[in-house]
Amino acid sequence: MMNCFKYGASYKFVKIQLFLSWPIIKYGKKLSNVPVLKWIINPFFKRPHNELTSIPIHKKVTDPTYSAVPLEIMEKLIARIDEIFIMNECHCAGLKNRNSPRLSIGCLALGPAIKRIHPSHGKRVGSKEAIAHVRNASAHGLVANIAHVWIDAFAFQLTDFNKLLFICFCDDDQCIYRTHMKKRGPNLDKTYKKLPGIQIVNDLQLCTGCGECLDKCFVSAIDLVDHKAVIGESCVGCGVCIQYCKNSALGLSLDNEEKLLEQLLSRVREMSGVLDTCGSPKRNPRENAC
Ligand code: SF4
Ligand code: SF4
Repeated sequence: MMNCFKYGASYKFVKIQLFLSWPIIKYGKKLSNVPVLKWIINPFFKRPHNELTSIPIHKKVTDPTYSAVPLEIMEKLIARIDEIFIMNECHCAGLKNRNSPRLSIGCLALGPAIKRIHPSHGKRVGSKEAIAHVRNASAHGLVANIAHVWIDAFAFQLTDFNKLLFICFCDDDQCIYRTHMKKRGPNLDKTYKKLPGIQIVNDLQLCTGCGECLDKCFVSAIDLVDHKAVIGESCVGCGVCIQYCKNSALGLSLDNEEKLLEQLLSRVREMSGVLDTCGSPKRNPRENAC
């Protein structure tokens, strides 16, 4: 018999919780600026309880002088982490559309806290299998979100939040985090933190000001100024808008591979304890292998 205290919540239990919490997450974003409610809601969407970084693993960089793509940088991050668990199912897709082709592209959970994930959710894997999973998500056009979010630890009943990280593969139709962000209160502008090495650039010669990209941005970060698209401060660098520009005016600009990888590792270190200061797994907090 399975030891009830060894593992956290089972698959069925998590599904029920998610079903019940969906309206709270949806309306919480909208009501996050209402007096009194904001003091209750906003802490749940802020550091250190909630941090998200988008990586456009579905986009190739067109600059010929740049050899790496965000996907490869993500793979280098995963190769540095020993403890990896693949979820059998994307819970957002499971909730909204069980026929979605991406139902089987579940999140990756990373770090020592995964030891408590109930086996009904999926399986522990090595970095090779995890990287194949990320490539599959990239081929489906999904954005990777690196998330250190209290609700994950709570939902799966994982006791060590500080040693837990999720990489989720998201779109704008089903993702519990990305949907309804257009209607967020201004206090939630910093829910996502852009990785500094990633920029979205607009080639003004090619931009016709058609406005097609404006509505596609899930955080409404694009405005038209003098008939040209201008990417605003709230852009999180997810890269989704690029595919909607028929004139190929939008593109990705990245720091060089080494710098971008260092920025990603440093973000992950800030978020959680799944890496030590050298980039290898943190087996013992007192240990410093540098
Ligand atoms: S879709 Fe392209 S051409 Fe149209 S406004 Fe946006 S960037 Fe400009
Ligand atoms: S402008 Fe919007 S859709 Fe485009 S990369 Fe930024 S956040 Fe993503």
